[in-house]
Amino acid sequence: MIEAASTIAEVRERVGAWRREGKSVGLVPTMGYLHEGHQSLIERAAAECDRVVVSVFVNPTQFGPGEDLESYPRDFERDLAKCEAAGAALVFHPTPEEMYWPDRSTTIHMADISEELCGKSRPVHFDGVCLVVAKLFNIVTPDAAYFGEKDAQQLLVVRRMVRDLNFPLRVVGCPIVREADGLAKSSRNTYLSPDERLAATVLSRAIRAGRALAESGERDASAIRGAVRDVLAHEPLADVEYVEVVSQETVRPVQRIEAPVLCAIAVRIGTTRLIDNFFYDPAA
Ligand code: AMP
Repeated sequence: MIEAASTIAEVRERVGAWRREGKSVGLVPTMGYLHEGHQSLIERAAAECDRVVVSVFVNPTQFGPGEDLESYPRDFERDLAKCEAAGAALVFHPTPEEMYWPDRSTTIHMADISEELCGKSRPVHFDGVCLVVAKLFNIVTPDAAYFGEKDAQQLLVVRRMVRDLNFPLRVVGCPIVREADGLAKSSRNTYLSPDERLAATVLSRAIRAGRALAESGERDASAIRGAVRDVLAHEPLADVEYVEVVSQETVRPVQRIEAPVLCAIAVRIGTTRLIDNFFYDPAA
């Protein structure tokens, strides 16, 4: 039977008991409103760890002014059932007050690799992600933490933080789970009207075109960006924020694909901001 905890003390007690039994622990951080993408992370964690903790927390520090903190969809009972079905043992569902002292003074600033891509339009986002993820790592003390490639820059940022701050855990990246028509699953897809939902399929078609070109041997990043933009340009409802090919190491744009890259896009469909990407290693 799955358990739910709303306090840090409860989580520590539960994890402490597992540790005394010699169990390994996996963590899947989420903002809730779970779908098959989240469930794939939980299932992977359950396959690799004895016990899985899922956090469900709409983290205020990673939202900027005017973003969708208030309207972000929430349904905890449904989330609990999905966590159980996917094999989690404990769901940590704290209030913002439980997570953040009113006079908290400590921040984490992720320089350089948080400045490109989504960092340009969401300047506080990755510092907020790092803060909450670091806190969750300290609360849950997992052996491994599972993140989706859907949020590719977040995955690279978390890996960098774990390296820089010596967190004793493994970061596991998991592939993007998509709808039947290709749209990457996202809690934010619920914001889309029927017309917008149809238009949103352009993201995955653009990503497929870019990947196919890279796989055919194209090494000029501007040619890849061009192919992706060409597909996006056919959709009148798509307002492109960025199309970039960056180094997986530095998250800086590259001209030629000579080492592992991330091709990432952010597109507004109506007022909803959607992202998609592919990783590509020319040596693989
Ligand atoms: P979120 O609740 O959106 O913060 O996402 C929590 C975790 O689930 C993050 O590591 C995401 O990258 C991951 N995730 C979200 N959507 C997907 C998806 N479609 N496929 C795989 N992982 C996902």
